[in-house]
Amino acid sequence: MSLILANDGIDPSGLKLFQEAGHTVITDKVPQDALADYLREHQVAALLVRSATKVTAKELGAWPGLKVVGRGGVGLDNVDQATAKQRGIAVINTPAASSESVAELAMAHMYALARFLHTTNRHMPSVGTTEFDRLKKEASKGIELRGRTLGIIGFGRIGQALAALALGNGMKVLAHDPFVQHVRVELHIEGYGTAYVKVDTIPVAELLRQSDIISLHVPKPKDGPVIGALEMALMPKGALVINTARGGVVDEAALIAAMEEGHIGGAGLDVFVGEPNPDERLLNHPRISVSPHIGASTNEAQGRIGIELAEKVMAALAS
Ligand code: NAD
Repeated sequence: MSLILANDGIDPSGLKLFQEAGHTVITDKVPQDALADYLREHQVAALLVRSATKVTAKELGAWPGLKVVGRGGVGLDNVDQATAKQRGIAVINTPAASSESVAELAMAHMYALARFLHTTNRHMPSVGTTEFDRLKKEASKGIELRGRTLGIIGFGRIGQALAALALGNGMKVLAHDPFVQHVRVELHIEGYGTAYVKVDTIPVAELLRQSDIISLHVPKPKDGPVIGALEMALMPKGALVINTARGGVVDEAALIAAMEEGHIGGAGLDVFVGEPNPDERLLNHPRISVSPHIGASTNEAQGRIGIELAEKVMAALAS
């Protein structure tokens, strides 16, 4: 049986599966600079990480018995995949497990912005007893999401999960994805069954012109932001921008400028260019609803991630 180091923790669901199969799982956090030595000294066969631990050529070359690197989550930015391939080390991730959770967070940011919850939550604790009427007035021009048009850019797993939520909330959905033409979005209505809605993707300029809100669900871009000043200028005045994909998908400076000009009405951001030290202007901005990269951070998603990771890692160890 193998020794597995879960350096960024592991959900109890995955831990249980490993232990039932007779594997030993260490959940101590080994500091980055001591990790390669630890892998060699303890003869670790599988290294499990989330986004915090970096798996570079140093860790991958620590000892020849390292067979698998498992990333709980989607992005593999923190794993040197080329070196892993060269060394014959399997790299595994869990791309589907968190789609629903990320989609729900995108909806949460939309609802927060629609009713100014991001600002009332900031100010009610400090001045809610003395300036109640002022806060009420400031948040009095809310909107309903029902009937609004949501433009989804990147129509993969999360984009499609969001489409189902938005359609279920009475929104009109547009989608853009250069690699997807048509999707039959499935709406599961608890206790009633499943409804299907066909969504055809459209050119991005058309989507930007017609959307009250855009939400981004694309991979981390290699050559500059997907949404910059030119794209924002195409959007209707007062439109909202939601980014739960990756920092850099939206040009942060252009976003601040478009909000200062009064063109973009607000933004919901879960991801930032400078993580874990985001630009403070974004964090303090009265038109921005913020969260600290928690798209996949629900009990349900972490449970699914733990199970999927354990099953795939054990299969790779056995092969
Ligand atoms: P996915 O691969 O299923 O879908 C991505 C889609 O984007 C694909 O269909 C692809 O064709 C499309 N695409 C690529 N470039 C595009 C472009 N320039 N314009 C329009 N579409 C483009 O991925 P997914 O699982 O839906 O994840 C989407 C994003 O969400 C990724 O960036 C992922 O890292 C991020 N994510 C964030 C969190 C979080 O905690 N906030 C959690 C999970 C995933």
